[in-house]
Amino acid sequence: MVIIVVRYLKSMAFNKTHVLSIKTLADALYPPSPDGGSGSTPLSEQPMFVERIEEGVTTHLDYREFLELKALLILLNTAAGTSLLYGGPSSAFTSLDLASRGQVLACLSRSSIGLRRKAFNGLKRLLMGTALSYNAKGENEAPHNPVWSSLKYPGPPVEASNVTAGYDFLGKSYVDVNNDDEFDYIIIGSGCGGSVVARQLCKVGKCLIIEKGTPLPSDLKDVSQCESEGMSKFYEKGSLLTTSDGSLMILAGSALGGGSTVNWGCCLDTPKYVREEWNGMGLSQFHPDGEEFNGAMAEVKKYMGVTDTGIVHNGMNKKLIEGCDKNKFEWKVAPQNIKDTSLKSAGWTCFGPRQGNKQGGGITWLREYSDNGGKFFEGLAVKVVTKSGKATGVVVCANSDKDSPSKWKTLNVRRKVICSAGSLHSPLFLQRSGFRNKNIGSNLRLHPVSAVMATCKEEVFGYEGAPMTTVCTEFQNGVNDDGYGPKLECPSVHTGVMAAALPWKNGSQFKEALESSSKMVAVIVLQRDIGGGTVTGKNKGFDPVVDYVPDTRDEENIKEGLKRAFDILRACDTVEKIWTCHVDQPQYDAPSAKAEVSAADLVNVEAFYKAIDENGVGVNSLGLFCAHQMGSCRMGQNPNAGAVDEDGELWECENLHVIDASVFPTASGANPMITTMSIAQMLGSRLVEMQKATERGAALLEMRRVRRKKFGGKRNGKLNPLWIGAFIVGAVGAVSAYVGLLKM
Ligand SMILES: Cc1cc2nc3c(=O)[nH]c(=O)nc-3n(C[C@H](O)[C@H](O)[C@H](O)COP(=O)(O)OP(=O)(O)OC[C@H]3O[C@@H](n4cnc5c(N)ncnc54)[C@H](O)[C@@H]3O)c2cc1C
Repeated sequence: MVIIVVRYLKSMAFNKTHVLSIKTLADALYPPSPDGGSGSTPLSEQPMFVERIEEGVTTHLDYREFLELKALLILLNTAAGTSLLYGGPSSAFTSLDLASRGQVLACLSRSSIGLRRKAFNGLKRLLMGTALSYNAKGENEAPHNPVWSSLKYPGPPVEASNVTAGYDFLGKSYVDVNNDDEFDYIIIGSGCGGSVVARQLCKVGKCLIIEKGTPLPSDLKDVSQCESEGMSKFYEKGSLLTTSDGSLMILAGSALGGGSTVNWGCCLDTPKYVREEWNGMGLSQFHPDGEEFNGAMAEVKKYMGVTDTGIVHNGMNKKLIEGCDKNKFEWKVAPQNIKDTSLKSAGWTCFGPRQGNKQGGGITWLREYSDNGGKFFEGLAVKVVTKSGKATGVVVCANSDKDSPSKWKTLNVRRKVICSAGSLHSPLFLQRSGFRNKNIGSNLRLHPVSAVMATCKEEVFGYEGAPMTTVCTEFQNGVNDDGYGPKLECPSVHTGVMAAALPWKNGSQFKEALESSSKMVAVIVLQRDIGGGTVTGKNKGFDPVVDYVPDTRDEENIKEGLKRAFDILRACDTVEKIWTCHVDQPQYDAPSAKAEVSAADLVNVEAFYKAIDENGVGVNSLGLFCAHQMGSCRMGQNPNAGAVDEDGELWECENLHVIDASVFPTASGANPMITTMSIAQMLGSRLVEMQKATERGAALLEMRRVRRKKFGGKRNGKLNPLWIGAFIVGAVGAVSAYVGLLKM
């Protein structure tokens, strides 16, 4: 009996009850139009809808999360369960009419109980994010979703170039780790850090990259750029990851090329004020005049063809420029690694590189790596193997074998292990390996983002063209004048992300907002966070748990940023309506005659500001997301200040380097790709020089020797108990020898 119950609970499939709840929820969240027009077929009747939800959750949720979801769906199918969720007497949600179901959901979304808001947000994100992005067609057919035509969304572009990835991932470049190869360098993760350092190291030794994310097809035309497929294949946890309180969506790349394969192509330098701060923390390599870091940044940008000339701004970015100019706010063109920003298809590069237009790591650094004989393994790095405090190998397995240690395999490494698994996974890899420095997994920065949205009179088609070509820098210094303020930028907005992120007041408001999405403009407020969070592991330490609540200083800056984003949108000629992503969203309707600023309009403006202040940045009451994870293994000049030293080498272990965004000492303030790559370029060059034993390499090695001598064997700045033990044994030995001498 027990076995049957356990099997039932663990089974990763929906039954009829779950399906009924999903369908009744979906129709209440996004009600069918009564007019018989294009949006009149209920979502519950759309082909493949439930199947795609099931596919998504069974692929990306672990069985506990799936169990929670199933429990929620069962509760909704009983009167008692609905009453428990809803907080009052009721019939089963699934038996209510559409209007009553809408009322239950509205109460849930505004509940004063955090768990209820979390449940609502989780269900809404999952169901609506899928409903508006899934592909109802089979393989080898052009992607199609039944709702897209009512949103005027064209679906992914057919346009594809003849560019290929340039290497045959699954063929010659991939290795089967069942052979007993040894490598000079093993690099864990192929993202912004890993790809750059791998391209350098492959020239001085035999290299293996271990990447758990999806490989790129050798013919890029096989990348569909369908939103649901792109998110599922190329994003961490199929983009379903959130902070543990469910309030902040976490987007991170998990693919060959990591984040650079899906990111928005905005290439900002590490800001001077941030470098000054890092230099002030004793990391002089970041001094704003430091030639080494400047040289690395120049090399990175040259290699990826980063430029700010000839950039064509899409509809949304034009609005940001118009609004900034009218307010006299400082803005800049954001340099791009997207070659042709005029192409509509540039807006779909966040779902993989079908056109080869964006020069992400997968088709630049890794192509050269492959050409130089570098190898890949599609799988998971479990932990590092050490001997006498030095890294000597890596335990690896296929992605599906993480729970079967008997199938794990140890690969020996002759020189270095480079951990470039990103800020969510590098700390987990180190924790699984037994390292305990307090900076591993703490100080996580996210650049939390919220948005102000507007509807214009005309079509803007914000998802077309390069998404992030401008940046408003007016407020980056922050309300406290300390360099911790927001940048205002434009995001990439496709139907699924929009449906997941847009606030839901009631079904008709939500549907109306989405149906006007072709006229929508969004300005995001990207806060350089002063406060931090933590990342720890669950499911035997393999899956990240992110705990993060915005610091009150960050909240103040986010509120200020939202007000200024509102000012920008309000100043645009054709903007009609503006709102925030608060559950109790304030809405502003622009006066029809814009030229005159009436007293009534100013009252509305003040009311909008006030509503932002009052609604604040409460958990699950303001839509938040992040695409920048940083700092969770930060660099510090001693083991108390950081997990790694100036070379990225772990204080606790020799020959184990962390090279990715997790080593940022604090948040970068600018979108982090260029900073991550520049750090990797700088540290990778050092490793090459040390290996070649050049004059500079010798100097670097000497600095390293001195550093290690001073701090070796220490964790968190405290003496390692082993060393204390050794000292006591030594001291006792010396005293007995002395006593022995005296006796002679
Ligand atoms: C949607 C989106 C848009 C963005 N837009 C921009 C932008 O416009 N400009 C900008 O500057 N930045 C942008 N970023 C951020 C930028 O891409 C990241 O900051 C950057 O990729 C971080 O680099 P990284 O090396 O730390 O990690 P990543 O690039 O994330 O690489 C880590 C890799 O390690 C792999 N991995 C993890 N654990 C293991 C393991 N145990 N074994 C094997 N492999 C493992 C992961 O699958 C992943 O591929 C964006 C990010 C996203 C998600």
